[in-house]
Amino acid sequence: MMPIHEDWSSEKPVFSGNADIDANLYEHNRQITFLLDTLNDAVFVIDRQWNFTYLNRQAEKLMGKGRTDLIGTIIWRYFPEATDLAFRATAQQVIQENQPATFEAFYEPLAKWFENRIFPTQDGVTVVAHDITERKRAAERLKQSEQDFQTLAESIPQMVWITRADGYHEYFNQHWYDYTRSTLEQTRGEGWIHLLHPDDYERTINVWQHSLQTGEPYDIEYRFRNVQTGEYRWFLGRALAVRDDKGTIIKWFGTCTDINEQKKLEQRKDEFISIASHELKTPITTIKALAQLLKRKLERQGLPEHVASIAKIETSVNKLTRLADDLLDVSKIQAGRLNYAEERVDIVALVRESVETMQQTNTTHTIVLHGTATGSLTGDGDRLGQVFMNLLSNAVKYSPLADKVDVWLEQMEKQVLIRVQDYGVGIPQEHQSQIFERFYRVYDQKNMAFPGLGMGLYIASEIVKRHNGDITVSSEEGVGTIFTVSLPLA
Ligand code: ADP
Repeated sequence: MMPIHEDWSSEKPVFSGNADIDANLYEHNRQITFLLDTLNDAVFVIDRQWNFTYLNRQAEKLMGKGRTDLIGTIIWRYFPEATDLAFRATAQQVIQENQPATFEAFYEPLAKWFENRIFPTQDGVTVVAHDITERKRAAERLKQSEQDFQTLAESIPQMVWITRADGYHEYFNQHWYDYTRSTLEQTRGEGWIHLLHPDDYERTINVWQHSLQTGEPYDIEYRFRNVQTGEYRWFLGRALAVRDDKGTIIKWFGTCTDINEQKKLEQRKDEFISIASHELKTPITTIKALAQLLKRKLERQGLPEHVASIAKIETSVNKLTRLADDLLDVSKIQAGRLNYAEERVDIVALVRESVETMQQTNTTHTIVLHGTATGSLTGDGDRLGQVFMNLLSNAVKYSPLADKVDVWLEQMEKQVLIRVQDYGVGIPQEHQSQIFERFYRVYDQKNMAFPGLGMGLYIASEIVKRHNGDITVSSEEGVGTIFTVSLPLA
């Protein structure tokens, strides 16, 4: 520490002796003093003996004492702690070098941070103290939240990433580097894409671009290569846009969750379903053929009561056949192997036929067909018939207390709309978006009584999609349900 110069000479203000000039000088000083008092910064002047010679209003506030108390007193008298600050050393340096200097210091008595600018004057120094407490605290908070984020991002088992609004990757957590054995340089920006499985490449880019353009959440299953083992593992990738106060996207926060084991289990289940449905078909076909043979024999022998029993066997076998067919369809859809015929389909005739077939096997409900349409479409008539039969049998099944199902045919320009309306139990709102998913069933006390496996609507929606159509539901619990199929006419 440099010695304090207690003997710095102090220069007193010199007046000219000319009354006009002195009056001007006085007025000028008064204006400057007024101006200084309006400042938010504390300004004070000390002479070379460390005595206060001037303080503005803000400085008085800061020191908690008035000018009359302070002017002429040595700064250490009331503020001994200032000797410990960089203040003393900096002030000495400013005087010696005749150059201004700045330093930041925390002033304990006020618990505040100041940025102090010290300027050399003829007789000492002028100090301008600017309160930077809020800025310091904000920076501290930011640092703390960055540290919290880092800890969180590193402690969760997922790979975590952040991109700019335009999708440029800026951050990955350590799990990413551990898995991909890459560096930030290799995977930043669009470098990550090259670690994708080639079969997932295009789909991923499309889904990601869609989210970037629309701001919709990103949700995808894809495979990334573990560079060390060469293995591709399945991940669930998810990201949400982070927006500013005005709603503009500023970042994307994303995670990749390893779902490889789940995927393997799913694949095993799919394989099981495929094998089981194939294995079921052969014995069912045999039972069906033998039952028919037996029925004819018994008819010839004139044994009607036995014929009735065989008819019951046939009904059960038909149910089994439908179940095995549905299982097979589901596994084919999963594997992308459900084949469709390309033929002219008279859609009105097809709907009418489905209604008639349903009516023949059903005695509890009257199925009424309203409206009509013209035109035909190109597609698979059997598959589309399967859609209508499914909607009609659901309408009957889920409205045990009703006695009617309405079917509406309507043409809208180049589209035909088929609505199947029942007056049954309805579907709670929260389930409506999921009923088209594979094996999805609405489980509640009331619906437990309805048999089914949740395959019909999944198959129906796949068939409709393959015909470039759409299937939607609108339903109210206890009132009924309307399924609407729209198909483009060719
Ligand atoms: P399943 O009827 O074999 O369960 P679906 O795939 O045909 O399978 O239907 C899925 C679920 O949607 C059903 O379990 C049922 O909860 C609901 N659902 C379908 N159709 C109707 C309807 N017409 N009324 C009420 N609920 C329905």
